[in-house]
Amino acid sequence: MPRLDDFPLRDDLRGQVPYGAPQAPLPIALNVNENTHPLPEAVAQDIVVRIAAATLTLNRYPDREFTQLREAFARYLGHGLTAENIWAANGSNEVLQHVLQAYGGPGRSVLGYAPTYSMYSLLARGTGTSWVAADRDIDYVLSPETAVAAIIKHDPDIVLLCRPNNPTGTRLDLETVRAVADAARGMVVVDEAYIEFADAGTPSALTLLSEYPRLLVSRTMSKAFAFAGARVGYLAGDPAAIDALRLVRLPYHLSAITQAAALGALAHSNEMLGTVAAVRGQRDRLVRELTALGFTPHPSDANFVLFGGLADPAATCAGLRERGILIRDVGIPQTLRVTAGTQAETSAFLTAIAAYAPGQVVGAH
Ligand SMILES: *Cc1c(COP(=O)(O)O)cnc(C)c1O
Repeated sequence: MPRLDDFPLRDDLRGQVPYGAPQAPLPIALNVNENTHPLPEAVAQDIVVRIAAATLTLNRYPDREFTQLREAFARYLGHGLTAENIWAANGSNEVLQHVLQAYGGPGRSVLGYAPTYSMYSLLARGTGTSWVAADRDIDYVLSPETAVAAIIKHDPDIVLLCRPNNPTGTRLDLETVRAVADAARGMVVVDEAYIEFADAGTPSALTLLSEYPRLLVSRTMSKAFAFAGARVGYLAGDPAAIDALRLVRLPYHLSAITQAAALGALAHSNEMLGTVAAVRGQRDRLVRELTALGFTPHPSDANFVLFGGLADPAATCAGLRERGILIRDVGIPQTLRVTAGTQAETSAFLTAIAAYAPGQVVGAH
C-alpha cells in the first residue's frame, strides 16, 4: 500500500501534522471551547423553516455576495458599520485564511504572540506565509512595549492579535491594539472569537476601525453564539480592504443552507447569546475552585481556563477521559485547558480533577 511519502507532496508539508484537537464521543466534552448549551428549541425550529425554504432553491448557486447576511452582521455589530464593511466565510478560520491569502503568501510573514491559537501557524503554512512567533510578558500579558518591539524587530506583513488570547484566556487592552496598529506597516487582525465572554464594559476593537484602515476585526458564531456546527465566521474592516478578499475566495463559498442558517441565528441573537452570562459564571467558578484545590489557574476573559500545577498533564487527560471527560492538553508544561460548560458539566470536571490536585497521591484512598 502506498504511503504519503510516496506521493509528490509539497516540500514544505512533508512530515507536518494536521490540526488535531481530539474528537471523541464522550459525555462531557470541554476541549474545544464550544458553548456546550444546546440551541433554544424555538430558535432551532425557525432555522429549520428557513433551511427548508432554501432547500427548494438548491438547484441554483447561492448569492455569491451573501448580501442579506452581510447586512445582518452589520446590523448586529453596530458601530456604524454597513454591509460593505463585512466579510464572512465558513468559520473564522476560513476568514483568516482569506486574509492570509490576500495579504500574506510566499515571501511574506505573519506575526503572532505565543502561546496563541494553534491554527495561526497552520494557516500560515497552508498559504505559504512565514510564521513568526513573538514572546509575551509575564503571565501571558501583552504590553504595548513588548508588542511593538517584536514588530520593529520582524517587520511583519500581517499581525494577528488574539483578544482575549487562546489558549491562555488573557485579556488584551485596546492600548496594545492601538500601539500595534500605529507601529505595523501591514494588516493588523484582531481575532475577537471570545470577546462576548469578556468583562462587561470591555470595548471591542471595532471601536478603532474608523481610525485604522488596515485594522480588521474577526468574530465567529462558533463560541458564544453556540453555532459551531454551522461553520460561520465574519470580519469587519475598511470596504476596500475587505474587497481584496473577493480575489481569493472560492465562488459561492457560503452555501444557501449556511446563509439561511446564519440569518436565522442572527434573527434570534439575544436568545442565542442567552447563556453567555451563565458560562461566564462557570468560568469564574472554575478559577475559584481550581485555586482552592491548589492549582494555578490563569485569569480568563474567555469561556475557558488554562490552569497549572499538574505533575503529568497527559496522564491527567487520560485519567479524565476514562471518566468520560475530555479537556485539552495544549502543550504548555504542567498545564491543561478546560472549557467552562454547563453547571453540571463543570461540577463533574471539578469532582474528577480533584484527584489530581497538587499534593494528592493519585490512586490513594
Ligand atoms: C475557536 C476559535 C476561532 C473560531 O474558529 P471558527 O472557524 O470560527 O470555528 C477563531 N479564533 C480563535 C482564537 C479560536 O479559538
